Amino acid sequence: MEKFAKPGEFCPNEACLDYGKLQNDQQKNLVKFGKTRKGVQRFRCQTCGGTFTETTGTIFYRKRTPEHEILETLALLAEGNRISSLSRVKGFKEDTILAWVRQAAQHADALDEVLMKDFKIKRGQLDALWAYVQNKGEKKATQKRK
Ligand SMILES: [Zn+2]
Repeated sequence: MEKFAKPGEFCPNEACLDYGKLQNDQQKNLVKFGKTRKGVQRFRCQTCGGTFTETTGTIFYRKRTPEHEILETLALLAEGNRISSLSRVKGFKEDTILAWVRQAAQHADALDEVLMKDFKIKRGQLDALWAYVQNKGEKKATQKRK
């Protein structure tokens, strides 16, 4: 089963020899490298020399929207709300919401757990949500059925 590993557990630089290797007793290319002004742990990879923070590479990286807000929007979608109405109610662009769902779909396993536990979303609703994303493909949102 795929785990939702966090940066800090592996180097997120795709060009790095040790890219994606989880840290353990043998694999120790990452070292702590101070903190950002906001207090986020920073790491340095001794293999490629790259630095990154513990939020690098997670789906919420560089998004200004709080994680909870994104998760809640995903939960509402799973419950059958339309992107267009969520966009109106929450004030996010439809494209933004669509981008979240697409990214979220890549971490579906990990997010399923959170959404089921914290937002009481049912398995079937989640399956429908991920299926919905796949159907959307890369095309822009067009409103067909609900
Ligand atoms: Zn590296």
